[in-house]
Amino acid sequence: MKIVVLGSSGSAESANRACSSYLVNSEIVIDAGPGSYKNFLKYGGNPLKIKYFLISHLHGDHFFDIGAFFWGMSYYGRTEPVTVIGPKGVKDAFDSLIKFANTPRTFMRFDVQYIEIEPGKNIELGSLKLNTESGKHSVQDVAYRLGSLCYTGDTSPNERIVRLCKKASLLIHESTGFAENEEYLNSVGHSSARQAANEALQANVKKLLLTHIPPSISNQTAKMKAEAVKIFKETIIAKDLLELEI
Ligand SMILES: [Zn+2]
Repeated sequence: MKIVVLGSSGSAESANRACSSYLVNSEIVIDAGPGSYKNFLKYGGNPLKIKYFLISHLHGDHFFDIGAFFWGMSYYGRTEPVTVIGPKGVKDAFDSLIKFANTPRTFMRFDVQYIEIEPGKNIELGSLKLNTESGKHSVQDVAYRLGSLCYTGDTSPNERIVRLCKKASLLIHESTGFAENEEYLNSVGHSSARQAANEALQANVKKLLLTHIPPSISNQTAKMKAEAVKIFKETIIAKDLLELEI
């Protein structure tokens, strides 16, 4: 399984980071934050090859580039349908985005199939097997497990994530700040690097990728890594276009 980080920022983009997005095996896009489509092209991604979008939750930093992806896919002549999987409301949100962009339906010559999932349910779509759990955020957040890869979306620490991610090869966990701000971070449904490392330890995963690093601390990755490795040694800090094989 090959994972490419298309966006490693949280809340807003920074000069060097697009917002949350990860490409799996060139055909699954997990979250589509602002700037991610450009990174998808920089990596050499092919808009005709995308089969699934998995959306964790409906905050802009996780889906605003869906319009860019849809337009790009249309521009390159896509006719194959695509499937969007996400929390309740994802269909309305994306339909509205397309509607307000005044995109003529004839321009988009591919169908979009929506699957709104109840976190905790597992789904199987052909070769794609998904386990899901509910994150703990200010809106419904869906954490995904695809085989040995887990992605939290935005969440404060909770036992559901640990359960979902047991013995995964790679846990992509949000890390929105440091231990010194945990009380605030948790109150708004986020985790510190220390807490993400603790989740990785409890879940007994092989590797932890810390991501969703907001612009205000984008250049403090050494501090973030130091905080995490004290608890979980196999920690990597995400950066855009980082490639990982599991
Ligand atoms: Zn976010």
